[in-house]
Amino acid sequence: MISRLPLLRNTLLGFCALAGAQAFAAAAPVEYFQLEKGFLPEVKLPTGGVALPAFATPNPWAFETVYLMSTNAKGQRTWRIENFLPGQASSQGSTMYLFEGAKLALLVDTAQNTPSEMGKNDLKTIVRHLLGHTNSGDVKPNPVDFVVANTHSHGDHTGKNSQMSDRPLYYPELDWPANAPANWVPIKEGGGAGPHGPAIGKIDLGDRVIEAVNIHAHTPGSTGYLDRENEMLATGDALGSGFVWAHFGMISQYAASAHHVVETVAPYQNLTVLPAHFFQNSSADRQYPPMNGRPVDKQYLTDQARVADAILDGTLIAEPYAVGRGIVWGGIDSARVCFALNRITPDGPKAYLAVQMSGFTSNRTRPQLAKIKSNFYLIRGLAEETIYLVKGQTRALLIGSGAGKPGLGELVRRLIGRTPVEVVVLSDDADQMGGLSQLAAKKVYVPKGMTMPAVAGAEMVAIGDGDTIDLGLNQEGRPLLFSVAGLTGHSKVGLTLVDESDRVLFSGHALGMQTPDGGLILNDTLENFSTALAAWRAKTDGKYDLVYTAKNFEWMTAAEFVDQVQDAASRGVKEGDAAMYNSIKPAGLRMVRSTRVDDAAASIVVAGTKAIPGGDAPAVGGRGGRGARGPAPAPAPKR
Ligand SMILES: [Zn+2]
Repeated sequence: MISRLPLLRNTLLGFCALAGAQAFAAAAPVEYFQLEKGFLPEVKLPTGGVALPAFATPNPWAFETVYLMSTNAKGQRTWRIENFLPGQASSQGSTMYLFEGAKLALLVDTAQNTPSEMGKNDLKTIVRHLLGHTNSGDVKPNPVDFVVANTHSHGDHTGKNSQMSDRPLYYPELDWPANAPANWVPIKEGGGAGPHGPAIGKIDLGDRVIEAVNIHAHTPGSTGYLDRENEMLATGDALGSGFVWAHFGMISQYAASAHHVVETVAPYQNLTVLPAHFFQNSSADRQYPPMNGRPVDKQYLTDQARVADAILDGTLIAEPYAVGRGIVWGGIDSARVCFALNRITPDGPKAYLAVQMSGFTSNRTRPQLAKIKSNFYLIRGLAEETIYLVKGQTRALLIGSGAGKPGLGELVRRLIGRTPVEVVVLSDDADQMGGLSQLAAKKVYVPKGMTMPAVAGAEMVAIGDGDTIDLGLNQEGRPLLFSVAGLTGHSKVGLTLVDESDRVLFSGHALGMQTPDGGLILNDTLENFSTALAAWRAKTDGKYDLVYTAKNFEWMTAAEFVDQVQDAASRGVKEGDAAMYNSIKPAGLRMVRSTRVDDAAASIVVAGTKAIPGGDAPAVGGRGGRGARGPAPAPAPKR
């Protein structure tokens, strides 16, 4: 049996090679750094990034440089065209690709709108120069002309579109803008009718066909360009470069896209993946194992699909990502995906999902996070509730137990192993108590005055203002002590916890969540809440830098959020109806917003009130409302 194995393998290989040969000639080998004649190499840093400025000497080709990637048996060439930003500020580069056919060429993307001199070193002149010369540098008679296709709508890939108004520009149908120029043609996988006229699905370059492949999520219409014969796939930002920014869309859509691409490219053993920020292949974390700076490949696509699946089934442990205050990321093997906890599927999450707040990347994000020295997880639940888990050396504390969907107990075990767990319930809300029976907790702390739930095998402990929960020592051997402070308003028995060693406040439902709509649901008067809040602040102020609520989908809420809760309450008390709008979440009541509607926005919806005609709240994006001032939220940078 053993002796026959090599024979069998050879037979299989022979068959596969034959099957491939029947379809196409073998793909030409690809080189990534074969500089095109007459162009300058970008200066690489030892860290894998690109130097500032990107070119060591004045560049006759403005901010572009070109690498010849391959020449196939038909003499058709493929180039990588790099575009870097001017000046010292950033060398963030965007990558274009040029596919040459017998009758036409295709330029994928137009990168950033960097300055150039028309007719001398603009993008069209560069492309014509490439198509107009042979590989040995001679002038090529009758060179082919070219058309353009965009992978997606972001400005760092469409920057020079306006220079291409004299030729067809294929643009993803689902990214289509209002007032698209007349030369734009919708493109989508398979082509077909659509809202902007018939879309095409393939671009025939003459003896070379490039097919559109839907890779949605990074943008609604993100499109890849597949050359089956030469086994190349330009992915834009949809799958690559260093890691995927999937947080603009739903992870469920991203997972479907990733699996679709993996299936589509399954026949191509030597697939070359061509991402739109090529330099990221070797920068940041990708310079280390397992990628060691090598370009993304077919395995990377498979790994990306695995990451998406692991986000959906809750097996991925995420960490805060350096951009924004709500984006997390996580990876498996060669893949890494950025995503938003509130964009898992259109119907919410399908599994409990953990974010390790004290992970290695958190130290690079915000200084407040670097102060967290405990093993600390944010757990997003299936009812969009948030639970927290803090692990000390000998026992762990779960803050809230969620709405009670299955899976929490399993996840907690996975995170802390056999460490005994205690649970604290911060209010009589259903999403604080629902999961108690899953946890095999030794001790359950419950607010004084609340009806004790029955939990088999657990010691029930009533706690209130001034009490402490002692978790022993944290991972660094420092005391891990939580002080309890009562705050009524949402609930008559509402509690908060301050973890003084990590400088974190767990506020449960007592402060609502950070948002201009439906933040705090107040089941008391604004006057009573203002009084309670002032008394609570006297005990807790200065002891924390971060606030985690029972509804957080963001990992970063600064302590100044509490100022904004107080601000909203005071405005409601002082100005009365003049400060109130009709509520949005839930609708039908009256609410008051904090003065600031930016990063620290607070809002209070007052139970027992009634919406009034004409009293609707202005959209926060427009910020036209009374008292709506302060800086606008920083827009997420586009990639
Ligand atoms: Zn992008």
